Amino acid sequence: MSPDDRVYAYSAVLLGSPILLKLFDHNQTLAARVFRLIKQQEILLTVNRPHSEVMSINHAAGESPVVVSQPVFELIARARAASVLPGSLFNFTIGPLVKRWKIGFQGNSVPPLAEIQALLALTNPHHVILNDRDRSVFLQKSGMEIDLGAIAKGYIADLVRDFLRQEGVEDALINLGGNVQTLGGAADSESGSWGIGLKKPFAGPDELIGVINVRGKSVVTSGVYERYFELAGKRYHHILDPRSGYPLDNELLSVTVISADSIEGDIYTTLLYGMGVEKGLAYLAARPEIEAIFVTRDGQVISSSARQFTFTLLDEDFHQA
Ligand code: FAD
Ligand code: MG
Ligand code: MG
Repeated sequence: MSPDDRVYAYSAVLLGSPILLKLFDHNQTLAARVFRLIKQQEILLTVNRPHSEVMSINHAAGESPVVVSQPVFELIARARAASVLPGSLFNFTIGPLVKRWKIGFQGNSVPPLAEIQALLALTNPHHVILNDRDRSVFLQKSGMEIDLGAIAKGYIADLVRDFLRQEGVEDALINLGGNVQTLGGAADSESGSWGIGLKKPFAGPDELIGVINVRGKSVVTSGVYERYFELAGKRYHHILDPRSGYPLDNELLSVTVISADSIEGDIYTTLLYGMGVEKGLAYLAARPEIEAIFVTRDGQVISSSARQFTFTLLDEDFHQA
């Protein structure tokens, strides 16, 4: 029996994304509980429906603080902290621009410059006031909107890992559409690790640049090829530059972060994407617990230190720098 025959895969569509759970035992009930957990988080955190804890904060922008649950408050505090780091292009108050561009959703278009500039005035993370005495969140200006799209999948992937661990599961993989978290390794595979494909940008769904092998680590990828639209020969992807209000434009096609926690991976993919290769590598040099693989437009695959993973290059169009 090949190792793959022993892996049971369960799939769902949640968080607007294809969700994949791999287990080593056939356990439909456990899979259903995992999907329920993800669904519960989606209901709290979504900005794609009229009601959620996050939407209640957005609806009260410029008017009043809103008390939220402890976990949501903590997640928002993490998002705010990442957003106010000096030079950070991670910005969780990017909501008004995300809503206006609608990249990856029906009805996307390129907004007029004046409109972008007006919306940029609503994206200052310092204008989010957190009060930890009553766990309230206040958006100071009317029209402000928080968007946890760049951090929430990582947070949820960690919750799934913790839940599975509590249930006594030793080996599992959860993929929330670009956010992978693992428990153990693929127990009876030759390598004893999970192999996670690094997708080839703008190619078929099964075409890979290479494979990243990890045990009990998170692997998160952010790329320009995930959600985008094209207009007049130009591509507009979903990671926005909070300085200009336009999609972030640099030498990168994707950034993958390997770390213990997926929330960290999710924050760092977006942060590092904004930094580019050179600054990103320098930034990581002081953070050995976070490792990354950058893929550039000119076909280079550049990794920082690689203590927590191994990488196997498969595609000849790319070369390891
Ligand atoms: P990342 O690179 O980690 O983040 C990019 C996303 O973060 C963007 O899509 C945007 O939302 C936001 N963002 C853009 N620029 C910045 C920036 N500079 N700083 C910080 N954040 C930025 N998709 C659907 O199609 N339909 C849904 O109903 C839907 N519901 C969702 C509900 C929840 C709770 C979550 C977490 C996601 C949902 N999504 C949905 C997907 C969502 O719209 C984003 O596309 C997704 O979260 C992007 O994740 P990523 O890891 O690919 O990208
Ligand atoms: Mg992210
Ligand atoms: Mg992400």
